[in-house]
Amino acid sequence: MSRILITSALPYINGIKHLGNLVGSQLPSDVYARYCRARGHEVMFICATDEHGTPAELAAAKTNRDVAEFCADMWQVQKDIADGFRLSFDHFGRSSSARNRDLTQHFAGKLAENGLVEEVVEKQVYSNVDGRYLPDRYIEGTCPNCGDENARGDQCENCTKQLNPTDLINPRSAISGSTDLETRETKHLYLKQSSMRDALDTWIDSQKGWPILTTSIAKKWLHDGDGLRDRGITRDLDWGVPVQFDGAPWSGMEGKVFYVWFDAPIEYIGATAEWADANGLDDSAWQRWWRTDKGADDVRYVQFMGKDNVPFHTLSFPATLMGSEEPWKLVDFIKSYNWLTYEGGKFSTSQGRGIFMNQALDLFPSDYWRWWLLSNAPESSDSDFTWESFQGGVNKDLADVLGNFVSRVTKFCRSKFGEVVPAGGAYGAAEAAVTAEIGKRLTAYQDHMEAVQLRKAAADLRAIWVAGNEYLQAAAPWSVYKSDPDAAAAIVRFALNLIRLYGVLSTPFIPDAGQRILATMHAEDATWPTDMQGALATLTPGHVFEVPEVLFAKIEDDTRAALTIKFAGAG
Ligand SMILES: [Zn+2]
Repeated sequence: MSRILITSALPYINGIKHLGNLVGSQLPSDVYARYCRARGHEVMFICATDEHGTPAELAAAKTNRDVAEFCADMWQVQKDIADGFRLSFDHFGRSSSARNRDLTQHFAGKLAENGLVEEVVEKQVYSNVDGRYLPDRYIEGTCPNCGDENARGDQCENCTKQLNPTDLINPRSAISGSTDLETRETKHLYLKQSSMRDALDTWIDSQKGWPILTTSIAKKWLHDGDGLRDRGITRDLDWGVPVQFDGAPWSGMEGKVFYVWFDAPIEYIGATAEWADANGLDDSAWQRWWRTDKGADDVRYVQFMGKDNVPFHTLSFPATLMGSEEPWKLVDFIKSYNWLTYEGGKFSTSQGRGIFMNQALDLFPSDYWRWWLLSNAPESSDSDFTWESFQGGVNKDLADVLGNFVSRVTKFCRSKFGEVVPAGGAYGAAEAAVTAEIGKRLTAYQDHMEAVQLRKAAADLRAIWVAGNEYLQAAAPWSVYKSDPDAAAAIVRFALNLIRLYGVLSTPFIPDAGQRILATMHAEDATWPTDMQGALATLTPGHVFEVPEVLFAKIEDDTRAALTIKFAGAG
């Protein structure tokens, strides 16, 4: 048994996420966590909302709400959706928690003590009417390149030219529309990442088996151009962790907060502390996951994220932890994902294109989405969601292969022997062959899970279901029964044991169906199989079960056609 710490990248608080976000971190991390628990490991699985920064402030302002209230409401919305997808976090925290505030201030203080924080004077646009500094993207004006009147201070969306706020003609505040803007000098703290370049480079080189996607992105940021750059860790905002040193004033930094990129990853630790608090445990309970001097030296730490988050997790967050010169647990394996596209294009929130997590749950059971997304996860390249592919995955894999097997076996047994595992006959060569075949497939499934190659593991699981179907088709108990009821009884007994096994092996991917299978089989033993022969003899003659209701309803063609139109978006 090992101890495994698993974190999913934190969803930003502002708005409901689409399916691409789900498959990029939360969903694969959940399958991995469920698998690790099933194998008997001690797991700590953490996620949280990332709540600070300007987008949250502005979204709250749009609905005339206090930003703290807005975040509390949106946290609940995201928590309910996560529950709907059966994401089995040990704790779903909030980066605005007191725990994260204290930890963020602590890390900043340590980094400053160790000479890794520098004060830099910057020029920034201040809006007199709004009474605040404006980040680049909240300044709008006319593009000097194409004349579009709604160019942003960071980029013109019309001609895609990268801009500085000072490039804009007739700049105005995106919040109030005011043109009463001025440039002011303001002081900020920078994390001297550049001075940690060699240490980070050495650390990354010492990691074994990281996905190429992860290391190639990290190396690019380390070495391209001038190499890893120092990065501002503070902002002139109200909403965030106040810039203080262990709770005491930080001279010259009054009224400023830490930049959201700095405090968000620290919330992995913060949320684990929140978990301890929520369970009435003391600090040692979370520290044994995070402090190598307090038990975390035997923890394996695995992170999940979309590829856009890789630089923060391979460089900035490790720089924070290493730079503290305290014994914090560093990540052991970073799993990063490519993009999920929607019908050949991008998901678009503004154009209503693609499927959002709440809409998905209103349409179909979470298992349908989990199965399609995981068996098509964008692991080695981008993946494209199409309704046709989704319909095919649900109808063929879930309904025709797994669902049909469960239905045929249990209904045939009921009609000939009753809802009870039949006695008579004995397993023979056919059963031995499929036992060996499934044993081989299970080894591949486990190896792919250990390597966090979930798409391949899904294919192995599907092959395990297929092996049972092929066995049943060849053994044909409905024909055998006429001449040899005892031989038919042995086939059915074996097939009922396969169903129980499928319940166990399928639960990490499709937890609701897996649990329903185990419940209707009245399976008390749901432990992961280590001996395949023993696993397929668990349900013995006389064991009572129930025939389950339809496990997976097929998606009809006209439903698919209607959904294709509904989610095509306005663009
Ligand atoms: Zn332009």
